[in-house]
Amino acid sequence: MTTTLTPVLTKNWDQPDSFTREGYERTGGYRALRKALTMDPDAIVQAVKDSGLRGRGGAGFPTGMKWGFLPPNSPNPRYLVVNADESEPGTCKDIPLMMANPHVLVEGIVISAYAIRSNHAFIYVRGEVLHVIRRLQQAVAEAYEAGYLGKDILGSGYDLDLVVHTGAGAYICGEETALLDSLEGYRGQPRLKPPFPAVAGLYGGPTVINNVESISSVPSIVANGADWFASMGTEKSKGFGIFSLSGHVTRPGQYEAPLGVTLRELLDMAGGIRAGHRLKFWTPGGSSTPIFTEEHLDVPLDFESVGAAGSMLGTRALQIFDETTCVVRAVLRWSEFYAHESCGKCTPCREGTYWYKQMLKRLEAGQGTEEDLETLLDLSDNILGRSFCALGDGATSSVTSSIKLFRDEYLQHFEQGGCPFDPAKSTIWA
Ligand code: NAD
Ligand code: SF4
Repeated sequence: MTTTLTPVLTKNWDQPDSFTREGYERTGGYRALRKALTMDPDAIVQAVKDSGLRGRGGAGFPTGMKWGFLPPNSPNPRYLVVNADESEPGTCKDIPLMMANPHVLVEGIVISAYAIRSNHAFIYVRGEVLHVIRRLQQAVAEAYEAGYLGKDILGSGYDLDLVVHTGAGAYICGEETALLDSLEGYRGQPRLKPPFPAVAGLYGGPTVINNVESISSVPSIVANGADWFASMGTEKSKGFGIFSLSGHVTRPGQYEAPLGVTLRELLDMAGGIRAGHRLKFWTPGGSSTPIFTEEHLDVPLDFESVGAAGSMLGTRALQIFDETTCVVRAVLRWSEFYAHESCGKCTPCREGTYWYKQMLKRLEAGQGTEEDLETLLDLSDNILGRSFCALGDGATSSVTSSIKLFRDEYLQHFEQGGCPFDPAKSTIWA
């Protein structure tokens, strides 16, 4: 059976006023909030647990379970923080979602904050995306005006304040504890976990941090029920998600489909690889996940199947590369990114990503040796599992998987004394 798209979050993106409060209300927006405010908060938490929703930021941690970790009797206020610092290379789902439908996020925030009994919520959005920041601010202002935010929301007696906070352009501030440091006004660097934010987060208070897409999925679960959500997807990866296809694909963009869809099916919907070319390699979940090739076209894109095939579902950022792309060059570009974004707190990542960059530059220019490949693998062993946060681990993924899958291409570089590919032929580098 061929999987088809399941537009829920993306269903009104083609409406010219989809981002306005009126446009959102006209298509049923804020009805789930009215329903939620008549429900017991614990019943909403239970519905999210029953739905099987797992974190859409990449890690896939069960959302309802995370909410359930909040200590019941903390003297500190509880916070809800939305991680809108989307920065994983290739990931472009939260930003279009916030542009096209910021109100589904606002509605999800009010419902989620009500469910966890929080009166303070924040959206932490990356600083570079000014257009998104403005759109969010506008949506929040409209929601206050309509009584969806502020005191006594829709006469329910429930109060919630929502602040849009902008970051300053650091990838590491998407790591949840670095995000909290940044939100508190400090330099963003990861904190030691445990304690997890659910126990001691923002200003030391119990804090739920969820990704934009996770929180935006909550209104549809409240409106349609946990069973409806759980009826999509696979046994352990329920529901739908936005897959972002980029690179050498005919119609790049965001495709909302049940988890478990395959790249082959998504490519069918996206018009295939650009005309006259064939798939060479791809990332299932952004550059922090080991690369796949043509042989993985039928791997179901759910947390378990992608893991069993040797990679991670991550952010569902499917970056597609055809045969014109030099894999060494792609890995060098990603490694430059990690070296630039490493926060410097721990040695394996700070030094390791620096050396990745140096060695890959040399290899790509055809000046390396076969021994360098062993050194790269040894270096990877000293980064993976020894870094303080997931950034270091993520930096190793493309290096180790590309050497495993494309060792011959690395060798070709030093045999020929240079890169065998013409960058002009690959639109990626043009
Ligand atoms: P993680 O598995 O450590 O944690 C996931 C979530 O579950 C966190 O919110 C954490 O607080 C919570 N959690 C885990 N165990 C818990 C426990 N015992 N008690 C309470 N809470 C618990 O993953 P992570 O390091 O937060 O995130 C890594 C992921 O981030 C990667 O898989 C990657 O795909 C993704 N990522 C996304 C982007 C992006 O732009 N969206 C960028 C970089 C990385
Ligand atoms: Fe910073 Fe990298 Fe260490 Fe994370 S792994 S704490 S980004 S140096």
